[in-house]
Amino acid sequence: MSSLHSIRPWRQIERRKSRQIMVGNVPVGGDAPITVQTMTNTDSSDVAATVAQVQACAEAGADIVRVSTPDASSTKALREVVKESPVPIVADIHFHYKRAIEAAEAGAACLRINPGNIGDASRVREVIKAAKDHGCSIRIGVNAGSLEKHLLDKYAEPCPDAMIESGLDHIRILQDNDFHEFKISCKASDVFLAAAAYQGLAEATDAPIHLGITEAGALTAGTIKSAIGLGNLLWSGIGDTIRVSLSADPVEEVKVGYEILKSLGLRHRGVNIISCPSCARQGFDVIKTVEALEKRLEHIKTPMSLSIIGCVVNGPGEALMTDVGFTGGGAGSGMVYLAGKQSHKLSNDQMVDHIVEQVEERASAIEAEMATEAAE
Ligand code: SF4
Repeated sequence: MSSLHSIRPWRQIERRKSRQIMVGNVPVGGDAPITVQTMTNTDSSDVAATVAQVQACAEAGADIVRVSTPDASSTKALREVVKESPVPIVADIHFHYKRAIEAAEAGAACLRINPGNIGDASRVREVIKAAKDHGCSIRIGVNAGSLEKHLLDKYAEPCPDAMIESGLDHIRILQDNDFHEFKISCKASDVFLAAAAYQGLAEATDAPIHLGITEAGALTAGTIKSAIGLGNLLWSGIGDTIRVSLSADPVEEVKVGYEILKSLGLRHRGVNIISCPSCARQGFDVIKTVEALEKRLEHIKTPMSLSIIGCVVNGPGEALMTDVGFTGGGAGSGMVYLAGKQSHKLSNDQMVDHIVEQVEERASAIEAEMATEAAE
């Protein structure tokens, strides 16, 4: 029920105004949707494994995928990965300017590189020329864990001012070389440090911002940390593209990224399931049902909502605001709601199959409505 946003101003997030750049065919910044990124963790010189992971991430919704290219064999393999990838590929470079040039030649859509870390001005010029020649954008990636020594000497420890200064120094190098297709991140594993640095950077530049809480941890802890850190920034309008860093499968990073954006109404993709925690009042097994539905509905990309509520305490109210709803009742059956209206009774044992059908039908109807709207 997409119209809820415009008629409920307390849900409105005013995004910071940033320039727009392109990462391949994906716009980042300006009024472009906030994109979700992840990074492969395969051996980058193993083309088949890397392509398979990129495809799995894209299928889960990744708009952009980063591949680390630490050596010449991985920049060589990158050419094949780029060819097979359904989404733009960012090459992750750290210090070696030659890898950056090779990656640009191999078709990377963007280079993640800090121009201040790759050596003298002539090397910087070479990398920027390669980026320009091959239509690559650049992401400056400031990280609290790898700040330049002179900044650590000046500030004594990683702090927001040091990170902002580092970011602005790298920006200046690109601008001095007349290169403007860049975005910037300033990540830290500490949410306070990351948030303060991002806020300062957001005021100091109009470059698109890539958000991330780095090394956030394993799936549960990292998800919570990322939701707090990124959620706070996104809520205040900061952030044009995000990456959730988890010690977990990159596909999980994509799912978590999307869930953070979905929770804030910043991006809609797939079925947003609203479900109750369940209690003794439940008319069916809510937890098992939601687990089954999550899996069965993974293929739906259409933005829509589904409420699965154990009983009439909250069921009818939630169903009013969702595309498809089910509320548990007595005697082994419950009530199905369609587009907010009570529709028909359903026995619990047919529930999962029937709700999947209803969601698929509603998704097709929404797709048709969107196609009509787009054609008008
Ligand atoms: S909606 Fe009903 S079943 Fe679910 S937690 Fe609330 S009271 Fe319990």
